[in-house]
Amino acid sequence: MATGRYTVHPIDENTFTIEEKTRFSQGLCYLLCGSEKALLIDTCFGYRGFEKTVKSLTDLPVTVANTHAHLDHIGGNHFFGEIWYHEADRGIFALHTDPGYLLDMATEGMSGPKRILVRLLAKNVLSIDPSGNYKYFGDEQVFHLGERDVEVVPAPGHTPGSVCFLDRQARMLFSGDTVCEWGVLLHIPGEGCPPEVFLSSMLRLKGLWDEFDTVWPGHHGFPVDKSYIDDYLACARQIVEGQASYESTKGRRCAKYGRVLITVPE
Ligand SMILES: [Zn+2]
Repeated sequence: MATGRYTVHPIDENTFTIEEKTRFSQGLCYLLCGSEKALLIDTCFGYRGFEKTVKSLTDLPVTVANTHAHLDHIGGNHFFGEIWYHEADRGIFALHTDPGYLLDMATEGMSGPKRILVRLLAKNVLSIDPSGNYKYFGDEQVFHLGERDVEVVPAPGHTPGSVCFLDRQARMLFSGDTVCEWGVLLHIPGEGCPPEVFLSSMLRLKGLWDEFDTVWPGHHGFPVDKSYIDDYLACARQIVEGQASYESTKGRRCAKYGRVLITVPE
């Protein structure tokens, strides 16, 4: 089912992937329905049609939980009654709802005239509505949806408050930007964590290995084969142990291992 920028891909009768596609971006969020409530994991940029798409899938009250507070995961938060993210990402949320910061980020490295043009064009796109009934979880939180529990798994690295969500019964892990097919960004100044922190997050996911079969990411192909976690683990270990070799991809310093890459600060 598709409406405008949104396509719904059912995973099972109570779980849906919602894919948001524009000329410039692709993002994924997930609707998990219990018997009493629904949990919406991330809200992409939340353009026109997003709220309608979600509401066409369920009549249950919808609670939002963000994998982290980057703008392309929180844009549609304000459409829903209750919104949660990890308290360690409050600083990231403040940055990613600040239009000045977003414009600086979008035009980084551009020449003068191009910078001015993009700033004019992007002004409306890069405005995230920060209003809403916000609540914050720490490292331990379970969302009870009625005959379905979804728990927070802390996974700092991409941001300090990045998390995954684990549904042990459905054996699904929702991984945000922490485990994608392409790579993970740790290089963003003031946002990414040291590689040691990301490594301990991968070890935590490895410790939960027997609890899930499928991994549902925030971008790119879905689901991700869970063996990607092994590649991230090995890559992070090489960085931490000083064994990684680095190359430049799109001007970013990155270490590669197997199918993945990790960007780190210069
Ligand atoms: Zn992100």
